[in-house]
Amino acid sequence: MSLVFTRPNTNAVTKKDKRLMAEVNASPLKHFVTAKKKINGIFEQLGAYIKESSTFLEDTYSNEELDPVTTEEQVGEVRGYLSKVAGIGEVLARRHMKVTFFGRTSNGKSSVINAMLWDKVLPSGIGHTTNCFLRVEGTDGNDAFLLTEGSEERKSVKTVNHLAHALHQDEDLDAGSLVCVMWPKAKCALLRDDLVLVDSPGIDVTTELDSWIDKFCLDADVFVLVANSESTLMQTEKSFFHKVNERLSSPNIFILNNRWDASASEPEYMEEVRRQHMERCTSFLVDELKVVDRAQASDRIFFVSAKEVLQARIQKAQGMPESGGALAEGFQARMFEFQNFERRFEECISQSAVKTKFEQHTVRAKQISEALRLIMDSVHVAAQEQRIHCMDTKEEREDRLEFIDKQLDLLTLDCKSKIRKITEEVEKQVSNAMAEEIRRLYVLVDEFHMDFHPSSVVLKVYKNELHRHIEEGLGRNMSERCSSAITTALQTTQTEMIEGLKPLLPVQCFSLCYDLNCDKLCSDFQEDVGFHFSLGWTMLVNRFLGPKNTRRALMGYNDQVWKAVGWRLIALSVGLYGLLYVYERLTWTTKAKERTFKRQFVEYASEKLQLIVSYTGSNCSHQVQQELSGTFAQLCQQVDVTRQNLEDEIKDMNRKIEQLDALQSRAKLLRNKAGWLDSELNMFTQQYLHQGQ
Ligand code: GDP
Repeated sequence: MSLVFTRPNTNAVTKKDKRLMAEVNASPLKHFVTAKKKINGIFEQLGAYIKESSTFLEDTYSNEELDPVTTEEQVGEVRGYLSKVAGIGEVLARRHMKVTFFGRTSNGKSSVINAMLWDKVLPSGIGHTTNCFLRVEGTDGNDAFLLTEGSEERKSVKTVNHLAHALHQDEDLDAGSLVCVMWPKAKCALLRDDLVLVDSPGIDVTTELDSWIDKFCLDADVFVLVANSESTLMQTEKSFFHKVNERLSSPNIFILNNRWDASASEPEYMEEVRRQHMERCTSFLVDELKVVDRAQASDRIFFVSAKEVLQARIQKAQGMPESGGALAEGFQARMFEFQNFERRFEECISQSAVKTKFEQHTVRAKQISEALRLIMDSVHVAAQEQRIHCMDTKEEREDRLEFIDKQLDLLTLDCKSKIRKITEEVEKQVSNAMAEEIRRLYVLVDEFHMDFHPSSVVLKVYKNELHRHIEEGLGRNMSERCSSAITTALQTTQTEMIEGLKPLLPVQCFSLCYDLNCDKLCSDFQEDVGFHFSLGWTMLVNRFLGPKNTRRALMGYNDQVWKAVGWRLIALSVGLYGLLYVYERLTWTTKAKERTFKRQFVEYASEKLQLIVSYTGSNCSHQVQQELSGTFAQLCQQVDVTRQNLEDEIKDMNRKIEQLDALQSRAKLLRNKAGWLDSELNMFTQQYLHQGQ
């Protein structure tokens, strides 16, 4: 029977599978790297969001058209967040994982670091070159260089020996100072993943442990104690970690029992030695330091040979087999244990670093986004309230406008009919008054006193004065008769109109003008103040036959008259007639002439005035109509102003509402963004900070 093995179809490996495989193979350090990328991204978005919010609040605050919907404190608060978040962002971008190696000189600290870096980065085997701390950090360039504390100068290093030499030469370096070895990231995966490794001078060479801890240990994520498996843990090593434990709450400590290859030479004791070391180290971590549980202790204690691992790795890097050299017994097991250490270490450091380096900032970011959400909420609410107020005002103004328009229509009709009524009344009243005055014209003329003389010069003056007297008198009398009544009626109507149209106008004083213009009216008047004997022929005939027949009578009927009367009677009559004539001739004085003049004038003027009664009436009513129409027009104008004001206010409200709408939707958007950032931060917390809890 033959079995047919089918090869998996490689083409069927999907993108997702590839990603999963990549994740499985990826270094646990990637956890920190992705978390850092993520939190940096969130902080970038938070920064942009705060900037947007700050601009929005500042614009809103300086908008003078609207009532304030934000406060100066809020504007200041958000501006403060801007620099705070920018600062945190910078710190986060520089964040890395840091592991510090401690142990006595020559235990193999540098060898362990080199083995982890797969290269001879640090000098080893010549004792610790100086008393300084060596910090290995990745650089983007292709060349390694040194940076010493307090100097910007980049000292180039070509080889490890060169480095050792450089360190040895530098006399400026104080004990306990820091030298950075900037190593190309391209050469080493660990450095690409934001790991920084620090080699210490050797616990046995210093008395300044306290200052070391303050300077190099407070921000270390993991401590690796490189012990020598050929001897037991020294008190100096132990007391150093006791001090560290006092300063940091439960530090992550790994113990590497190095030089385990030496145990291969005495295999019979190997298990026993290992058990003893394990027990002592476990007791140190669990009972003395209390930094791990007994169950976890085995994940923190390893038996390795850094020298072997480094050698094998360098060979592998050069394309030769790992075990090319003459290797001691059990190399593979030790190699495996070193790899195991590396895995545990990477898991531990990335978890721990994510927590210690990002948790606090995540909490702060959450607080800031929450504070911003509240501010945006308050802006939204304030804008909402103001919008409601604007809507109410607008509605009220619109109602008033509608009311005014309706009312104006009604009042216009009402006012027109009132004006018509009052003008009709005035016309009637004035006509009546005038008729009455004409009847009483003789009284007015009688009241006129001035020296009278029939000479034409005096008469002319006399007439002028008489005209003026009558004009004044008539005007006065008419005023007395009508003005107060008309004015009262007029004012009542005006007041009614004003009352109706509300906006107040001052009531103007109104006076009627009864313009009679006597001069013109009586310019044709021709007096007759010559002496006429009342029984003279003309007069008699005038009296009995009327003026038209006088001439005919005197001319044509003479004979009959003479025949009809007897001569005696004629003589008596002539005597009496003569007496009467003398009497009349004697009494025809100036006074009599004046009387006659006045009588003639009254007759004439009455007749003429009679002609203009209706004219005067309509003239007066026209004046009243003009006055009231004027008042009405003024009121309408006033109403127009009010209408215009209302319309302006409505326009204003509409503009405000529009602005508030935009403001509200912007505030809402920003509030939602804060919510979104908060959920991003929650997701980050879930994914990276609460993992494994
Ligand atoms: P450091 O002073 O703690 O940094 O120690 P080094 O790394 O300089 O090592 C001191 C000496 O010990 C060097 O000669 C190394 O080659 C040697 N050494 C380091 N690790 C091992 C190891 O695992 N096995 C053996 N046999 N020798 C080692």
